[in-house]
Amino acid sequence: MATSKRLLYKTFPFAIAVLLLLTNSACRSTRQLGSGDFVLVIDAGHGGRDQGAAGRKSLEKEINLKTAKSLEKLIKKNYKQVEVIMTRTGDEYITLEDRAGMANFFNADLFISIHSNSARGWAEGTETFIHPAAKGTASERLANLIQFQYTYFAERENRGVKTGNLAVLRETNMPAVLTELGFISNKEEEKFIKSRRGRKKLAKCLFYAFQQYYAETVQNQR
Ligand SMILES: [Zn+2]
Repeated sequence: MATSKRLLYKTFPFAIAVLLLLTNSACRSTRQLGSGDFVLVIDAGHGGRDQGAAGRKSLEKEINLKTAKSLEKLIKKNYKQVEVIMTRTGDEYITLEDRAGMANFFNADLFISIHSNSARGWAEGTETFIHPAAKGTASERLANLIQFQYTYFAERENRGVKTGNLAVLRETNMPAVLTELGFISNKEEEKFIKSRRGRKKLAKCLFYAFQQYYAETVQNQR
């Protein structure tokens, strides 16, 4: 599904643009919030030749993808009205421009990029980035909800919500966050993030934050 979506985006932008114009854009532009179509892009950071950070026993690209898939599963199971688009579903290299480009192309309502952290010295904890221009917006709200869940549901160290002029945050036209699940450079934290239990817990944090965000921004506006 996600792969075919990306193929559409990569290979037939013109044809698809016309198609969307003919069939969908009218509904899209006048759609009612809460009417059942909400597009969420889940972006598993790195992939392919870009492995991201490396822990002792794991690679960031693998952890990001597994967590992204766990989140996808939770949302698909609980929200039939939410369309989930994955920027990648396998170990593939995708440019930052294409990740944001896909989200823009499919007129997404929300963009969540999943990463794992690394530091030279000792460091621990979760953090979520928003674009500096997104202070006080829905992006910041979601970032706060995510950090709250990490802290109280998963009992992870909270490094807070931060701003960063990151490409996927800058280039996306919708509320967007980039979340760091923890430091894979930290032996203990890597163990947690790498474990099935840890990954499920972190994915649930993102899911619970999404639930709250969705309730606030979509359901309440019915
Ligand atoms: Zn990363």
